[in-house]
Amino acid sequence: MRTKNASFLVLFLKVMIPVCIVIFSFSFFLLQKATAEKKETIYESTLMLSHMISNVAKFDREFSLEDAFERDAQQATLYQIKQTFEKFNNIQKSQFEYYIAEKSDKKIKFIACSTDNKPNEIILNKYNVKTPIIEVFSGKNSVDILYNHEHKKVFAAYIKIPESNWALVVEESYLEHIKPFKESAVYMSVIILFILSIIYFILKYYEQKNMQLINETEHRYKNLLESTHNWIWEVDTEGKYTYVSKQVEEILGYKAQEIIGKSPFDLMPKDEALRVKRAFKKIIENEQEIINIENINIHKNGHEVVLLTNGTPFFNATGQLLGYRGVDRDITDEKNKQKEIEHLAYYDLLTGLANRKTISIRIDEEISYTQRNEIVSALIYMDLDGFKFINDSLGHNHGDKVLQIVAQRLKECIRKFDVASRVGGDEFIVLVRGKDKDYKKCQIVLKGLIHRIINAVNMPIDIENGVNHIGVSIGVAFIPKDGDNANDIIKRADSAMYKAKQMGKNRAVFYDKYLQEEADKHIEIKNELVNAFNNDEFVIYYQSQHDVDTAEVRGYEALIRWKHNTKGILMPYEFMPYVEKFGLSLELDKYVCEKIYEHFYKLRQDDSINISINISATSFEDPEFIAYVEEKVKNNDVRTNQVTLEITEDTLIKNLDASFINRIRALGFRVSIDDFGTGYSSLSYLTKIDFDEIKLDMTFIHAIQNSKKDEEICKLILHMCNELGANVVAEGIETREQLEFVKKEGATIIQGYFYSKPLPYEEIFS
Ligand code: C2E
Ligand code: MG
Ligand code: MG
Repeated sequence: MRTKNASFLVLFLKVMIPVCIVIFSFSFFLLQKATAEKKETIYESTLMLSHMISNVAKFDREFSLEDAFERDAQQATLYQIKQTFEKFNNIQKSQFEYYIAEKSDKKIKFIACSTDNKPNEIILNKYNVKTPIIEVFSGKNSVDILYNHEHKKVFAAYIKIPESNWALVVEESYLEHIKPFKESAVYMSVIILFILSIIYFILKYYEQKNMQLINETEHRYKNLLESTHNWIWEVDTEGKYTYVSKQVEEILGYKAQEIIGKSPFDLMPKDEALRVKRAFKKIIENEQEIINIENINIHKNGHEVVLLTNGTPFFNATGQLLGYRGVDRDITDEKNKQKEIEHLAYYDLLTGLANRKTISIRIDEEISYTQRNEIVSALIYMDLDGFKFINDSLGHNHGDKVLQIVAQRLKECIRKFDVASRVGGDEFIVLVRGKDKDYKKCQIVLKGLIHRIINAVNMPIDIENGVNHIGVSIGVAFIPKDGDNANDIIKRADSAMYKAKQMGKNRAVFYDKYLQEEADKHIEIKNELVNAFNNDEFVIYYQSQHDVDTAEVRGYEALIRWKHNTKGILMPYEFMPYVEKFGLSLELDKYVCEKIYEHFYKLRQDDSINISINISATSFEDPEFIAYVEEKVKNNDVRTNQVTLEITEDTLIKNLDASFINRIRALGFRVSIDDFGTGYSSLSYLTKIDFDEIKLDMTFIHAIQNSKKDEEICKLILHMCNELGANVVAEGIETREQLEFVKKEGATIIQGYFYSKPLPYEEIFS
């Protein structure tokens, strides 16, 4: 804006000065012209006058003035000359003065003058200046601008009057002549000065206004710049800071003056400086804009600050690069957040280990790496043994701590370039980079590592609530032998781990093809099972239980069947192991309970039938099951005293939990020990729990026909059951002999094909 005004002023002066020159030149020209005209007029007039005077002097008698007779002839002549001259002045509208002089010896004597203040005579000497009268008597007839004898500058025409000794000088004040020009020039100057002043003040006023506006804008702009969290900078062609805004102190801890003269690279770590220099090189060479270049700087306090740099080159009038100006934005927080988000996306929040996504990427990379370098790497798939129990019984917080400790121990076992990750609740994967291309050698190394991992995990885990012991099942797959993508490798290591789990705790199994086939079959069955739940393919059969004496029906045992859409009715032994393997037991037990509830509490509301329900070992351990049962009883009409929950002896021995049985019994349910006699263990557990019924395993019943010894054992068990004061159910009774035998030995309830096979609900109750 300021530049605009200045140029406007210059432009104005550039116009005004020539205009003034023209005006003054024109005035001067007019003056010259008028002077020339004046000279001509005055000379011609003087010439004419001189003739007239000559004539007047010659023929003075011809003038008829009344009083002319009273004067002497010369006076009359002069008078007439004067009259003539006045007439002449009137005609010419001028203020000419004249005088007539006569030269005698060394004197010039004035004869007649238009004014009275002329000297009578002039004595001639060599010091006389050139006055008109002196000039004329020196023989010149002319017109000129001269100083007269009164030292006034005048226009003077001087002529020798013909035929006389007289000379006529007609003069006019030169000052009077130039006065109008002088005045007009002065007026003009004043007017121009005035105009210029007005324009100047107007410009000044606008300039001031503009200045004020500029100041305000600058102030606002500065405020704006300084109110942002970015800092503004300018560097010269050397890349040295020539200006930095004060925010730099807030961002980098340095005062602006500490930065001036430094290069941006002085504030970066060495490696970063090299990297950024490389990035800038091409941009600066091509005088391009700097757009969003990220760079790490070191704060005065020593911590890292990430800046986002944007800048534009600036040039001089000839287009030569003078430097760059730009803005740096502190994006440290954004970067940290981004890192956090990335961390969340790629790392397990609980343990800080890599997550499934990250390990999958790393496995894919490892596959290519091993193929390129012809080496063998390995994937260790780990599943903790006994973790679920700790997690369920001691709570999730406790479980989380256990996982964190295991993760820490795992990290300590592996090398820096191996990758540990958590891929599920208690499942971990370790990607182990090999050195050799020989699988056997690799296996030996891995065995050492696996040994260390098992030992580390097995070490007691000491948390507030007590010491925990945990095992680990491990499956190993080789890279690249066991798959050409991460998914396959993980799947294979997983199936090997599964095998290890089946073989008992703290074992490791290396993947082989056979395992995979088995695993594939498992997956197929698992999918079928899940679909069976969704499609409601399970049905409940009921097998009656009879009074040993009267043969009356005392109740029914609920037994599940799977109505498979291609394989027909499947028996429990065909699918129950998979239900348990795939962790679907709890779901199945709840499913059965719901079905039974539907049959006996919705359809047969007033029925007084006793129902026995089998509870799987998993549900017995799972707090969710007891919670489910309690909830069901609380919110529904369940005649709990007509329901017996069967728990196998095996389950009881493995997970002796009196509290579960107590809670079940507290709700009014009856508890039966199923498959009694197969536990091959101490019977001491019987003293620790309360139960209502014992179901003698059918293998004893069926054995009695074969040997006397088995018969004796059977008798012994039946007696013992009687001693314990519980109802004794003999299941698997197929013949009258078997019936008679158990009846004799004290069984109270009979269940078996002798009376009925398990039948669908509809066949018995409708
Ligand atoms: P269990 O509870 O001991 O059931 C008795 C089994 O003996 C039944 O086999 C039944 O059909 C069979 N049985 C009954 N009388 C005779 C007989 O005279 N001769 C012969 N040979 N067998 C007889 P099933 O139905 O195949 O069930 C097998 C096991 O599967 C059950 O043994 C039980 O442990 C489990 N099971 C069955 N249904 C369920 C269920 O709904 N939930 C759970 N968790 N387990 C179930
Ligand atoms: Mg049973
Ligand atoms: Mg049984």
